[in-house]
Amino acid sequence: MSAAGTPASRVAAASASSTIEALLRAWETAYSASPAERALGLLAAVWPEYDRSHWRGLCLGDRDACLLLLQKGLFGGRLHAVAACPACGDRLETDFDAGEVCPLPAQMPTPREPSLLKHRDYRVYFRPPCSDDIDALDDTAGQGESVALLLQRCVVSAHCGREAVAAAQLPAPLRRRLIAAMADHDPLADLQLAVECPSCRHAWSASLDVAGYLWEELDDWAQDLLAEVHVLARNYAWSERDILAMAPARRRFYLDMVQA
Ligand SMILES: [Zn+2]
Repeated sequence: MSAAGTPASRVAAASASSTIEALLRAWETAYSASPAERALGLLAAVWPEYDRSHWRGLCLGDRDACLLLLQKGLFGGRLHAVAACPACGDRLETDFDAGEVCPLPAQMPTPREPSLLKHRDYRVYFRPPCSDDIDALDDTAGQGESVALLLQRCVVSAHCGREAVAAAQLPAPLRRRLIAAMADHDPLADLQLAVECPSCRHAWSASLDVAGYLWEELDDWAQDLLAEVHVLARNYAWSERDILAMAPARRRFYLDMVQA
């Protein structure tokens, strides 16, 4: 742990003007980035003492838990989801707390050490996929190709007896066990929400894209904030830096007077 304190204490300080500026920078540079890169940019903006390789190396569940913690610090931890019922097609809305989705980290997670899987004469060390692995996948590739690439990247070493074996040469039953073991080692990689349709009572699990959700919230926040800067700068000729350095309540006070 760094001197910056627990992850929660750092996020609690996220309203500091330096963090606001860092988040705005992350927002403006992330427009053309992939969803995974956007997520990493946001995390690096709030916890700059950890370099990109730290965030890139976190398994997806740990990364998303940090993103939920960030969501709680910046936007209050209440999430709002909209879904269409797969049974009757009705649109439904639901609210939930970030902590209901997964436990929020009390300590900064670190990239996982490789785990060992034994299968007959094989000994395979592997790690769960991280953001870099997902970014490396080709969207146009088939499922078989994607699985092969993930195994190639996430199998750290494999031996049959004393002989080293490439991931692509592992027998099919072992490859299937490896995929299942990767999921077991990172159960939060695929966050699911329990949803029930109020119209027809159909119940199902919906995937939650934490990175995409937080990005949309941040995008709204940044655009609203810059609109406030625009109004105040035009009326008072204050600089963007000075306006962003104001506490939100004071900014609101001046905006109310301008818009009265
Ligand atoms: Zn329904």
